[in-house]
Amino acid sequence: MRFTDMDTEQLLARIEAKREDVVALTQDLIRIPTVNPPGDAYEACAHFLGERLARCGFEVEYIRADGAPGDSDAYPRTNVVARYQGSAYAGGDCVHFNSHIDVVEAGSGWTLDPFAGVAKDGKVYGRGACDMKGGLASSVIACEALIESGLPLRGALEISGTVDEESGGFSGVGYLAERGYFSKPRVQHVIIPEPLGVDRICLGHRGVYWAEVETKGRIAHGSMPFLGDSAIGHMSAFLHLLETQLQPRLAKRKTAEPVEPVGARVSTLNINSVHGGQVAQPYALDARGWPVGDLPAPLVAHSCRAVLDRRFIAEEKLEDVKREILDMLQELQRTRPGFDFNIQEIMSFVPTATPKDAPVVDAAARAIARVLGREPSYIASPGTYDQKHIVRSGLLRDVIAYGPGILDLAHQPDEYVGVQELVDSAKVMALAAWHLG
Ligand SMILES: [Zn+2]
Repeated sequence: MRFTDMDTEQLLARIEAKREDVVALTQDLIRIPTVNPPGDAYEACAHFLGERLARCGFEVEYIRADGAPGDSDAYPRTNVVARYQGSAYAGGDCVHFNSHIDVVEAGSGWTLDPFAGVAKDGKVYGRGACDMKGGLASSVIACEALIESGLPLRGALEISGTVDEESGGFSGVGYLAERGYFSKPRVQHVIIPEPLGVDRICLGHRGVYWAEVETKGRIAHGSMPFLGDSAIGHMSAFLHLLETQLQPRLAKRKTAEPVEPVGARVSTLNINSVHGGQVAQPYALDARGWPVGDLPAPLVAHSCRAVLDRRFIAEEKLEDVKREILDMLQELQRTRPGFDFNIQEIMSFVPTATPKDAPVVDAAARAIARVLGREPSYIASPGTYDQKHIVRSGLLRDVIAYGPGILDLAHQPDEYVGVQELVDSAKVMALAAWHLG
C-alpha cells in the first residue's frame, strides 16, 4: 500500500504547481555559459546547483578531477554530487540522476542570445536548453517535489552535475565512476536526463572504437618524387580499401537493438580526419599574385595520419572490430611495396544495453504510462554518452537515459526545450524515483 492513487495525484499536482520554477531553473542554468571546450564556468555551475540542493536537505560534495584531462586552475573540472537520505525506513535503494553540465559552443545561426535563457511561446531557448540543462532542471524539480511531499522514501536520492560529457566524460562521470560514485552499494539505479523525448526510454548505445592510423613514407624533394615514397599515397590506398571493402560490409551488418535514427541500426565507419605532409596552413595571393605568408616546402610526405571513428553494434565484438582493420593494414603491407604503418587506439567502449525488465526501465515505463497515458518506446543511441563509464567502471547495469527535449535540436542554433516536456518529464522522474527508492 505504499503507492496509493491519492499520493500519486498529490505528487503530480505538486510538480504541476512548479511549472514556473522549472522554467526559471532551466533559464538560470543556461545563463551559466559552461562551454566545452575549454570548460568555462564549471565551478560556478556546480556551486549554483549544489547550493540549491543543499537548501532542500541534500548533502553536497564537490569533486574536482585533479590532474584529469582538461583540468587546470584556469579551467577546473569541478563536479558536484548531492545525496538526500530518506528516513522513513532503512535499506532502500538509491536512485541517481546524472546530468552533464557542459554544453557545446553556440556556433552561428542563432536568432536569439544563446546564453540569455529566453522563454517564449511555451519554450525555453538557449545553448544547452535540451542538451541537457532542461533535463537537469526537471530532475531537480522532481526530487524537490518528492522530498517536500513527505511521502515515505526508504532509500536515497542523488543528483550529480558532471563535466566534459561532450568531450568524452573522462573528467566527469569517468572520474567519479572510477572512485565508486556509480557503484553498489552506494547507488542502485541511474537515470541520465539526456534529451531523448518524454515518452522514450534509451536503453544504451552502440560501441565505439577510435584509432589513429599512420602510414609512413620516405621524405624527398617534391620535384623528384621518384626519390621518395609518399605516405599520402599509402594512406590513400588504405582509405580506398575502407571505402570499397569495409564500409559496404559494415552497411550489411544489422543490429536487433532499437537504435534511433534507423539509419544507425548498422555498423558504421567515419574518417574523422586526415593529415599528411606539412602542417596545414592557409595559402593566399596578394594583389600582385604573389603568395602571402609562409610558403610550403616541396616535400614528399613521410607521414600521414588518419583518425578512424568506428561505431559497432551489440552483435559485434571489440576484438573483431580491431582485428578487421588490422587485417586490412597487414594485407597492404604484404601486397603494396613500401607500405608501412602504425595503429594506435585513442579510445574504445563496448555497446551497452540495459535489459527491458531491469528495475529502472520498468519504473520509468510505468511512470510514463501513468503521466502521459501511453506506452513508452524503447530506443538505443547511435553514439555513446556517459552510460559507458557507469557500465564499464561502475559495473552498474541498471541505467537508462530519459529526459525532456528533442535530440535533433541538440548542438543546433536556436536550441530549445518545451515547457510542457519539462513538467511531464519531472513527473515521470519523480514517480520512477519514488517507486524505486
Ligand atoms: Zn548531452
